[in-house]
Amino acid sequence: MSDPFHAYPYRDDYPVLRAMPETGRDRSEVLAELHTIAAQEDQAWESGQCSGTIYLGNTEHYDFLSDVFGQFAHQNALQRDMCPSATRFEGEILAMALDLMHADAASATGTTPAGLVTSGGTDSILHAMLCYREDARARGVERPTIIKPETAHPAFTKAAHLFGMDLRVVPVDPTTTLVDPAAVAAEIDANTAVIIGSAGNYPYGTVDPIADLGALAAHAGVGLHVDGCLGGFILPFAEELGYAVPQFDFRVPGVTSISADTHKYGYGLKGTSTVLFRDKALRNRSYFFVPDWSGGKYFSPGMAGSRSVGLLASTWASMVTLGRTGYRERARGILEVAAGLADAVRSQPSLRLVGDSPFVVAFASDEIDIYHVNDAMRARGWRFNGLQYPNALHIAVTGPQLQDGVVQRFSSDLAASVEYAVEREGTPAQSAALYGGVPGGLTPAASMFITAVMTQMMDAQQTVPSGA
Ligand SMILES: *Cc1c(COP(=O)(O)O)cnc(C)c1O
Repeated sequence: MSDPFHAYPYRDDYPVLRAMPETGRDRSEVLAELHTIAAQEDQAWESGQCSGTIYLGNTEHYDFLSDVFGQFAHQNALQRDMCPSATRFEGEILAMALDLMHADAASATGTTPAGLVTSGGTDSILHAMLCYREDARARGVERPTIIKPETAHPAFTKAAHLFGMDLRVVPVDPTTTLVDPAAVAAEIDANTAVIIGSAGNYPYGTVDPIADLGALAAHAGVGLHVDGCLGGFILPFAEELGYAVPQFDFRVPGVTSISADTHKYGYGLKGTSTVLFRDKALRNRSYFFVPDWSGGKYFSPGMAGSRSVGLLASTWASMVTLGRTGYRERARGILEVAAGLADAVRSQPSLRLVGDSPFVVAFASDEIDIYHVNDAMRARGWRFNGLQYPNALHIAVTGPQLQDGVVQRFSSDLAASVEYAVEREGTPAQSAALYGGVPGGLTPAASMFITAVMTQMMDAQQTVPSGA
């Protein structure tokens, strides 16, 4: 991939469409063409050298889910009279996810746990933040505030932007990568709608001190959203397997909502996530009604209008065919591989692990430029995520890494890449420009430059090249 913009691909292989073809193409020809492309693109992760992205990587499971998806893909979840099974799928996905998050502990305190199935992690976070905004507004808070650890996902920043909320960002401890509850407490005031903790966060996969945050939230009478988008479907099984996982679910008093992505370690197709609430009254703040529209009485549970029942069905099918045993066994393999990768990092004296997540291996260096390591690992087929502040790399361990030889290959490639970095000390690393951070943070001018480049990237990613 020499083009960092990933601009219009395949222009040399296929004609570029700039208008709808007058006559439709033959289905078998289209299928053959797409099969070729998909098979080629799947090579990016099939070797087991790619961080995150593909969580199960088992073709039989994906083929099965696609078959299920196909049975219901054309049905609309908004029209339950025509497709009542949507209620079975959605209700049972939520019941299973709530059970995994120990919602029984919430019921025991007299609340009614409930949830929504959304289109992804960001969407789950947006729905939760919308609920907290509405709840705060009902209490007379005009501009409700979200307090988040610096490591919490940008979806919270997006929610503040979209919903007219204020955002306060609390720094994390550079060694543990965790937020300090006292620093969060210092930010709580009369406008606070919700505080955030991650289980685990995206950069390091670490779990914030949720019990302490819960105590704070309960004491202050504000919400605590736990972002389990990444960890929600793996940490409960890590706990069952005996790993030291701090409690983060509804067993913790003060936790009022949790997001958990079925399209990550839930092993579903891309396009679904769950957002779970300790009490239905908060969930219902995202309900929307237009009772007096000419088109009829309109209502929807969340921000979406029409939704494909296919995604509900395939998510449900992923959960019921794997079962708790299936998830536990996959978690066992992933956690073992992650421990192996972490050992390989530890064996390099110039590298250090960042955080102690059981399934995300993040590493940095105080001696060499970690982006030189990234360049050399890239050349060997590895695809990590680049982190900044401090510059670091991470690999979120997933199904494709469970094949034989991945840990070995990582270990020897890492040793060679560290040598490469030592040789190039003092020269700029290629991948640093796109992923690395500038010490001291961004100046306004640098920030403007970067957003201009990112704008060009996004423009390019949805545009066909101009005609010759
Ligand atoms: C992936 C992720 C999200 C956002 O999920 P999307 O599905 O990409 O919208 C939120 N939080 C964490 C911790 C994540 O890893």
